[in-house]
Amino acid sequence: MRKVLTYGLIMLFSFMACQNNEEEKIDAELAAYIAVFLEEAEMREVVIDLELLDIRAHIMNIQERNIVGQCYSYSDNSKEIIIDENYWRDLNDMDKEYIMLHELGHCVLDRDHLNSKDQNGNCISIMQSGTGACDKQYTDANRKKLIDELFNI
Ligand SMILES: [Zn+2]
Repeated sequence: MRKVLTYGLIMLFSFMACQNNEEEKIDAELAAYIAVFLEEAEMREVVIDLELLDIRAHIMNIQERNIVGQCYSYSDNSKEIIIDENYWRDLNDMDKEYIMLHELGHCVLDRDHLNSKDQNGNCISIMQSGTGACDKQYTDANRKKLIDELFNI
């Protein structure tokens, strides 16, 4: 019994080591929020085929000042989301979800920035540019409404 367990552990370790050597397509931490995006899409009957989209997503250092997230579209039609690691580290769960939904709005839904605001000056879209043109509010109270807007519902 003990021998079997040891063997099992060695197998698990080599599997993990192998995984670490390969570059992962989507960082595990970001994958959780992509799953939220897909779930919200499905709830609104928006069909998204991630295999077809060929998306990579990584947490990395972004050199440019004031840029915290980016969506790249490459000539082979693949896409890449990069989130700045210093920015990401200090975010709470809601803000992590927000920036991922924003970048997926660019990369998956082909949405541009939208800085429209309501009568209180609050951004009506997650696709706001982050330049302060409107006030970002993302709470349990307006989350559903903003995600509806993201998917154009
Ligand atoms: Zn943007």
